[in-house]
Amino acid sequence: MSKCFESHCSVVKGVLSRKDKKKGDYMYIGFYIPEGVTRIDVEYDYRPLGEGECVIDIGIFSPGNISFLNAVDKFRGWSGSNRKAFTICREYATPGYIPGEIPEGEWHIILGLYKIPEKGCFYTVKLCYSRGRCNYIAKKKIPPPTIKAGKKWIKGDLHIHSVHSDGDSTIDEVINFSKKAGLDFIAITDHNTISHLPELYSNNILVIPGEEVTTYRGHLNVLGIKEWVDFRIGGKEDILKLTKYVNSKGYLPIVNHPKPSGPPWELGHLDKIGFIEVWQKIWELNNHFSLKLWDSFLQKGRRIVAVGGSDIHFFKEGRGELERLALPTTWVYVDEVNVSSILESIRKGRVIITESIRGPFLDLKLVTRKKTCNIGEKAHVSKTSKAILNIKGGKGLILRLISRRGVILKEEVEEKDCTLTRDLQVSIDDVYLRAELLEKSSAVDELYSEENIIKALTNPIFLRVESN
Ligand SMILES: [Zn+2]
Ligand SMILES: [Zn+2]
Repeated sequence: MSKCFESHCSVVKGVLSRKDKKKGDYMYIGFYIPEGVTRIDVEYDYRPLGEGECVIDIGIFSPGNISFLNAVDKFRGWSGSNRKAFTICREYATPGYIPGEIPEGEWHIILGLYKIPEKGCFYTVKLCYSRGRCNYIAKKKIPPPTIKAGKKWIKGDLHIHSVHSDGDSTIDEVINFSKKAGLDFIAITDHNTISHLPELYSNNILVIPGEEVTTYRGHLNVLGIKEWVDFRIGGKEDILKLTKYVNSKGYLPIVNHPKPSGPPWELGHLDKIGFIEVWQKIWELNNHFSLKLWDSFLQKGRRIVAVGGSDIHFFKEGRGELERLALPTTWVYVDEVNVSSILESIRKGRVIITESIRGPFLDLKLVTRKKTCNIGEKAHVSKTSKAILNIKGGKGLILRLISRRGVILKEEVEEKDCTLTRDLQVSIDDVYLRAELLEKSSAVDELYSEENIIKALTNPIFLRVESN
C-alpha cells in the first residue's frame, strides 16, 4: 500500500439501547471524507451490557440523499454482522462492498440494530481514510451464454449465497459447483448487497442477478436486478412501497421461507407481492407451514406463484442433508433459454419444484374442449375433464391432486416413468388444481400434516368451470 498522505482515523463509541431500536431499526453515523481520498477502512465491534445477546449489523453510504428508496447510487455496501472490518478502494472492495470513486463529503455508516439486550450494547466504529490503494487481481470477464431457442423445462436453484454476504464460496466457485451439479440456471441472492453483480458471468450456466432483501421482519428475494434494492423496511407500508418500486423496475420479488424458523415473514401483503418460496432447504424443515399459507391464498382465488430455493450458504463445509445445492430444484418451462425468459415464465407460474435435480419429476395438464392447458394457465373446463400427469422417477410414491375442496385424487404411482390420464369431476368450488408426489411411508390424509414428505409439487392450473 503506497501512501501519499497519512491515514486519518476517527472513532465513535456509545451505547445502543432498546429505546433506540424502538425509534427505528437503523442508526447512522456521519464521517466527513475530504477530497482526494482513495481508500476507506472501517472496523467495528460491539458487546452486550449485562445478560443477553447483542447483534449489530453494518453497512455504508456515500454522501447525498440516503432516504428510503432514494439511495440506490449512494449504497456502498453491507455485511450484516458477518464481518468486523471492511475496505473500499477505487478498484477493489471487501466482498459485500462496492468499489469506485470516493467522493468528498459526509459518508454514513449504517448500523442495523438487530438484537439489543435489556441493558443495551456498547459499540465502537473506527473509520480511517487515506490515499492508499488496495491490492487486487483483475478478473477476466466471460461473456454470458449465447441464447438457445426452444421451449423446454430447465432446472435451477433460485436462492444461493456467496462470500459477498455470509456464504463460504466466491462467485466463480458457486458457478463451478452449480455447473458440476448439472443445473441450467442459478440465482445468486446475497443479503442486502449487489457487490456480486459484476462477477455474474459464465458461458454455460445462466446466472440470475438477485438480492435477498433481509429485514428484521422477514426476507424477500428480488430477482433480475440491475441495481441495489433498499432493505430498510420500516413496516407494512414500506413493503408496499418497495413492491411497487421493484415492479416498476421489472424485477421479481419472492417472499422467502414464510415459516417458523425461516425466519418468518411478518410484513404481510403476500398477495400483492405474488411469489412465495414454498419450499426452502429440505422439505422436513417446516415447509408444510409455507404450503398451507400458499394454499390459503389459492383457495381465495389469488394467483400466487410458488418456487423453491436451497438457500445454500456453505458449499465447502457442507451442512449435510439440511442444506444442499439444488435441494430443492426449481423447474421452469421457458420459450427461450435466457434470464428474461426464466423470469417471464416464473411470472406466469410455469414452475415445478422437485426434491433434487434428479426429480422425481411431475407435470400436470388439463384437457378442455378447446385445448390442453398447462400449469400457470387458466382453463375453461366442463364438469367432466381429463387430467394428464407426466411422471418421471415416481414409482412407489403417492400422487395427489389438490383443489380448493382438498385432495380430489390420491393413488400410488406404479411405474418409474409414466403418463397417467385421469377423468375428473370438477365443480365451481374447485377454483384451482395442483399436483404433488409424496413419500409413501409417511403419507397421511391430512393435507398439511408435518408427516407428509413432499417429493415434487406443481403450480396450479386455475379453473373456470363452465356449465355442461
Ligand atoms: Zn433468508
Ligand atoms: Zn438466503
